[in-house]
Amino acid sequence: MIEVHHIDKSYGSLTVLKDINWQVRRGQFWGVIGPNGSGKSTLISLLSGVEKPNRGQIKLGGRRISEYKRKELSRKLAVLQQDGLPPVAYPVREVIEMGRFPFQNWRGRENSEAARQLMDEIMAKLELNELASRPLHVLSGGQRQRVALGKVMAQQPEIVLLDEPTTYLDIRHQVQFMELVAGWQREAGLTVISVMHDLNLAALYCDQLLVLHQGRVVAEGTPEQIINSEMIESVFHVKSHIV
Ligand code: ADP
Ligand code: MG
Repeated sequence: MIEVHHIDKSYGSLTVLKDINWQVRRGQFWGVIGPNGSGKSTLISLLSGVEKPNRGQIKLGGRRISEYKRKELSRKLAVLQQDGLPPVAYPVREVIEMGRFPFQNWRGRENSEAARQLMDEIMAKLELNELASRPLHVLSGGQRQRVALGKVMAQQPEIVLLDEPTTYLDIRHQVQFMELVAGWQREAGLTVISVMHDLNLAALYCDQLLVLHQGRVVAEGTPEQIINSEMIESVFHVKSHIV
C-alpha cells in the first residue's frame, strides 16, 4: 500500500530524516513513536505529499505520490494534523461535510442520496447529532477531535494518517477516540498510520510500531517485540512504559 524508499529530508542544514525505508501493507494499523523532534510529524507530511523528500521516493498503491492529482490523492489518503481543526465558527455538520471536497464538483456541490446517507451515518456513529448545528469553536477538546475524525471519515480514504490525535484529550476521551478509529479501521479495511505519544495506547491499538530516533528508524515490529527490546530504554530513557 505504501512504500518508502531511502528517504532523506532536511530543512536548510538540519537533517530531519535519514535513509527511511518502510513498507506498509493494506489494512495494517501502524503506530509511529519516538521522542520529540525525532521526525514523526515530518514523516507524516512526506506521506501526505505536503512536503517533498530531498532524496528517495514514496509510492502509494505502486505510484509515486508526486504523480497523483490533488483530488485523486485526497480520495486515497486523509490526514488529521497534530494541531487538529482550527477553532472556526462553522457548524459541526458543515465542517464534516468539508471532508467531501474530493467528490464535489467545481461549485463545491455533491447532490447524491448516497452522500447524504454517509453524512447521516457518520453523525450517528460519532454521536454528533445533538451538536450538528453548534459552531465548532464552542466544543470541548474531545468533541472537536470527534468532528475532526468525522471530516476524515467523510473523505472515505483508503489510508488515514493521524498525528498524535489524542494528545490534548483526557484518558477517557483518548480511549473513546481510539475505539472509534479502530472500529472504522475494521469496518472499512482501512490502512492507518498514527503518531502516538503514549506507548500504552500504541500497544493497545496498533499491530505494528515504527520507532524513530534522531531521524532514523531504530526499530520496527509488533508492540510486544518493541516493548521487550533493549533499544526502548536508550530511546525513551525509561525501563518500560508499560504498567
Ligand atoms: P516530531 O514530530 O517527532 O516531534 P518533527 O518532525 O516535528 O518531530 O520535527 C523534527 C525536527 O525538524 C525538529 O528539530 C523540528 O524543529 C524540525 N522541523 C520540523 N519542521 C520544520 C520546518 N518546516 N522548518 C524547519 N525545521 C523543521
Ligand atoms: Mg510531531
